[in-house]
Amino acid sequence: MVECTECGATLAMNEDTEVGELITCGDCGADLEVTGMTPPMVQLAPQEEEDWGE
Ligand SMILES: [Zn+2]
Repeated sequence: MVECTECGATLAMNEDTEVGELITCGDCGADLEVTGMTPPMVQLAPQEEEDWGE
């Protein structure tokens, strides 16, 4: 279990979750990158700026 850095909600992490994976907070929808497993830690994933040239 790990806390969302945005809203503080408790997120479940699977046993097979790996560092570098992205998980989405079910409460606020934030994308969080797993930065550690022992202890579990996450940080807000950088928003990808995709320019589709519209
Ligand atoms: Zn959240």
